[in-house]
Amino acid sequence: MTNREWYERACRSLVGGVNSPVRAWGAVGGTPRFFLRGRGAVLEDAEGREVLDYVCSWGPLILGHACPEVVRAVGEAAGRSTSFGAPCPGEVELAEAVKRRFPSIEKIRFVSSGTEATMTALRLMRGVTGREWIVKFAGNYHGHSDSLLVAAGSGALTFGVPTSPGIPASVAEKTLVLPYNDPEAAEDLFARLGKDIAGVVVEPWAGNMGLVPPAPGFLETLRDLTARHGALLAFDEVITGFRVPEGGVQQRIGLTPDLTCLGKVVGGGMPVGALGGGAELMDRLAPLGPVYQAGTLSGNPVSMACGLATLEVLERPGTYETLEARGRQLEEGLSDAARSAGLPLSVTRLGSVLGLFFSPRVPASLEEVKATRGDLYPAFFHGMMDRGHAFAPSAFEALFVSSAHTEEQIASTVRGAAEVFRTLAPQGPGKEGRS
Ligand SMILES: *Cc1c(COP(=O)(O)O)cnc(C)c1O
Repeated sequence: MTNREWYERACRSLVGGVNSPVRAWGAVGGTPRFFLRGRGAVLEDAEGREVLDYVCSWGPLILGHACPEVVRAVGEAAGRSTSFGAPCPGEVELAEAVKRRFPSIEKIRFVSSGTEATMTALRLMRGVTGREWIVKFAGNYHGHSDSLLVAAGSGALTFGVPTSPGIPASVAEKTLVLPYNDPEAAEDLFARLGKDIAGVVVEPWAGNMGLVPPAPGFLETLRDLTARHGALLAFDEVITGFRVPEGGVQQRIGLTPDLTCLGKVVGGGMPVGALGGGAELMDRLAPLGPVYQAGTLSGNPVSMACGLATLEVLERPGTYETLEARGRQLEEGLSDAARSAGLPLSVTRLGSVLGLFFSPRVPASLEEVKATRGDLYPAFFHGMMDRGHAFAPSAFEALFVSSAHTEEQIASTVRGAAEVFRTLAPQGPGKEGRS
């Protein structure tokens, strides 16, 4: 069956043919590809065409597809049972592996997605402080729970408004939405409402509006404000966690949040999320504390084995060096190719996660991201896909390199990008050398 035939069949049984909206290619147009298998950095679609994968399941596959050690661990775990609904050793071992990387985490609760990790962080922050208001930042994504699927409303107090029908305004307005990288806005808000704010949730590098680094002092201000006003600070490291050798952004910059949300890499491609923090705070969750949280498949033995095998391979000497080298090669290659084509492009990078902006400078906030030439993205996406390089089917998504990407594969992607950039450049091809 062709991709189109699969897609038409899918549309008869699945909403929009997909189980997560971005997969429908609505933002770039065309028929989504259906994938049959992956090996390392290479994906094979329903028509037998191979592409180099820079989505890597939106981050979890830091070792690439079907890493042999991970596949073996998953198979062995599944052979012992796909679920116990009771304690099992894998949960303890993965918790210990996470704690080795994140000194701020003394206790962990595993869940089945990043969405649940942040949702639980909010409940815990509210439950512990007895306050209701949460602060988030425009352009940060924390999954699709009601309290976090909100955007900045109009007006000075920036009460959140729902970004989807079905979210009560009374829930959304308990979330205050501030611009990213604007410490003064956070200071103003805390000066006015600090005593009612339960906590702040932030992506320490924003990975859902491209990849936007934190401005100097921004995260430090949030740490200081929350501490002074008796509020809690949660770092959403669902994307950034395990992407740097230090563990997360928090160790890299030496700033300790009260809570850390993890997902994606921690499950190695199986459905895993985690919430972690100091023991005193985490022990307020049930069964030790009053804040309720539960899950039929939480700590699932197959998922835990997948996460554990992934972290074990990651910790081998040389893996992070490879990730850093491949990430840098792609960053420099794309930057040089765009410069040669006369196309303004800014590339951001945290280890093996990259952001591309069709703009001469790196944006610092959602507003600045929206002002870049995102309209060039669909042509870039299709130009690259036609040449066998799969980027995310939506502008302003991060791209991911795995340890399975080879130097030659990345070089071929850079050559492909050089061709595509020339078709996108305002002056057209051949600008270089003309006077
Ligand atoms: C992907 C993501 C989430 C949500 O995780 P899911 O597993 O898709 O629910 C939360 N926060 C961040 C920063 C993410 O990138």
